[in-house]
Amino acid sequence: MVASTLLLVVLIACTAALIDFALHGAVHAKPVYFSALIGLVVAPLVLYLFVGLVSQLDRSEEKLKALSIMDDLTDVYNRRYFIEQAEKEMAKAVRYGTVFSIMAVDIDHFKKINEDYGHFAGDAVLRAVSNTCMNNLRTMDIFARFGGEEFIFLIPESDKIDVPAFAEKVLHALEQTEVEYEKHTIRFTVSIGVKTFDKTILSLEGLLKAAEDALDEAKRRGRNCVVIYEGRNERKNTEYRSQNSE
Ligand code: GH3
Ligand code: MG
Ligand code: MG
Repeated sequence: MVASTLLLVVLIACTAALIDFALHGAVHAKPVYFSALIGLVVAPLVLYLFVGLVSQLDRSEEKLKALSIMDDLTDVYNRRYFIEQAEKEMAKAVRYGTVFSIMAVDIDHFKKINEDYGHFAGDAVLRAVSNTCMNNLRTMDIFARFGGEEFIFLIPESDKIDVPAFAEKVLHALEQTEVEYEKHTIRFTVSIGVKTFDKTILSLEGLLKAAEDALDEAKRRGRNCVVIYEGRNERKNTEYRSQNSE
């Protein structure tokens, strides 16, 4: 700050000297001293304002960056950020042989919630799903809204946890979630599809597709259940149901 102030003062004084020389053919001490004095007063103020502006710009940039990876309704990560992180996890898995899983969660009959209670009630349910899922997350997991009423988990190092048990836990936690909206208590269920990375998977797209296929199968099997994708043959896929399901 001191160095910048001095530099600015010298610059102002030099400019004054140049102008003096251009106008009068000679440099006089008085205008140079006078402009240096003014510079001494003005320069710290200008620099202070400038530094403030730059740090404000930095903060705005950080805020914008944070906003661009978040979903505004639910305040969890958005699809774009999820894909970015999943690509990184995929590259790590291919290179170092680490294992991770994708877990797709879709609210059952969500359209009916909108129809019965209104769109804002539907929004409240989406926020409740996010909260419950966030409360069940390990620190290394990534949870995002994948679009509409579908959410997605990225579970790194999934060989270190019991993924079906985790999926069941989430299924159950969501089944127990109650959403108070106006005078109604809304309850709902979800269907979950899980796919764990293995060497037969060649791209993230393939992995996501397998998780989506498992999710579709969970819907076909009557909803409110988890399907773990094992292969194209649906009979091989394992199904888990919440122990509290009717
Ligand atoms: P399924 O059990 O087969 O998943 O049926 P569903 O009704 O949940 O699924 P469907 O795809 O038929 O309908 C999804 C609905 O989600 C339709 C759309 O209007 C609603 N939706 C998508 N985004 C939002 C949102 O941000 N807020 C609200 N309230 N509704 C949304
Ligand atoms: Mg749905
Ligand atoms: Mg859906």
